[in-house]
Amino acid sequence: MIQRKSVTSSKEKTTMKKIAVIGAGLTGATAAANLVQQGYQVTVFDKGRSAGGRMSSKRTEQGYLDMGAQYFTARTDVFKQQVQLWLDAGQADVWPCTTALLCNEDGVVSLKSSKDEQRRFVGVPSMHSPINALLLGIPLITGCRISKLDYRQQSWILWGDNGISYAGFDAVLLTLPPAQAQQLMTQSSLPEVFDTAANLLEPCWAVAMQAEASPAGDAIFCQHPKLRFISHQQYKSGRNSCFVLHFNAAFSAEHLQQPADFWFAEATAVLRDELNIKQTIEPLVAHRWLYASQNDQTAVPGCIELPDHQLWLGGDWSYGGRVENAYLAGFALAQAVIRNYKLQQENA
Ligand SMILES: Cc1cc2nc3c(=O)[nH]c(=O)nc-3n(C[C@H](O)[C@H](O)[C@H](O)COP(=O)(O)OP(=O)(O)OC[C@H]3O[C@@H](n4cnc5c(N)ncnc54)[C@H](O)[C@@H]3O)c2cc1C
Repeated sequence: MIQRKSVTSSKEKTTMKKIAVIGAGLTGATAAANLVQQGYQVTVFDKGRSAGGRMSSKRTEQGYLDMGAQYFTARTDVFKQQVQLWLDAGQADVWPCTTALLCNEDGVVSLKSSKDEQRRFVGVPSMHSPINALLLGIPLITGCRISKLDYRQQSWILWGDNGISYAGFDAVLLTLPPAQAQQLMTQSSLPEVFDTAANLLEPCWAVAMQAEASPAGDAIFCQHPKLRFISHQQYKSGRNSCFVLHFNAAFSAEHLQQPADFWFAEATAVLRDELNIKQTIEPLVAHRWLYASQNDQTAVPGCIELPDHQLWLGGDWSYGGRVENAYLAGFALAQAVIRNYKLQQENA
């Protein structure tokens, strides 16, 4: 659990090992914050324009649109404590959503309310606000895709695809989706670590639409040939009322290369035919996630430790996808590095 206040005081306790964290999603941010809290010198790299990864919200004239994660839940004590800190600091809020279930079996549509007791949370004012809070004060290099890693004389060099290299790191944490991590490992002549990298995370097309209509539910779970989730943003702090539709992995994969207009037409048809919306519907944003969420048929690999290379890999995929598992992976990665370093000191 990260309480930013204690960062500077505990810094003095340890020597300044330099750690590169690649990926500024929740896994990378959590690992970075935990390491900094223990006195490590951390730099975070991300290919995106800002931190957030799959928890990114898009800033538009309509306010923030959550194109990735729609909410998060907290089931473990360690994550509950972190969420409480975000709530206290106004970086997260409860999403007071009504839940519903949309089914379409052989063309027969049914929409039922499906109440549950689950507490759901959102970042405020955007889904990535908790990540920004974790990264506060930590050097973050964005717009930099790391395309190659080099381990020479017990020191890492990172090569960005902007032609810039970053040298002098004692250890590297890779917090990328497995397929991207595997690609980077291969380009760097490092060992293959995933058997099923390509299949662990599946794609999702996410589409935001504006319609002045009351939603049938704020969080609509879908058992549907095309969809997995429909969200309405009206009760999320900091957002305007609009719909976000997430198409399921099979339908997204089948039409992966289709342009935005295809997805706007599909989303309009769903809102008209399945949710019975008569008002004007306007397309806002369509976003393709190549690696969205875990395929629950595959075994979870945990975090991957390569201490001989001073290299650790992890992400939401380590424990089964979802925001909470990304947090747990970041926490576990930081603990693994700290443990390894202590062992080195004991054996020196
Ligand atoms: C459409 C969608 C809906 C979802 N809905 C929910 C939900 O409702 N609830 C829930 O709990 N979870 C949900 N999830 C899952 C949740 O968003 C993820 O589990 C979590 O955000 C993953 O965090 P991460 O840090 O492990 O990975 P990521 O967020 O993917 O972070 C990895 C980062 O690495 C960066 N990167 C990749 N390659 C490189 C490179 N070579 N160099 C530098 N940087 C690189 C990426 O830009 C990215 O920022 C959803 C995800 C998607 C996509």
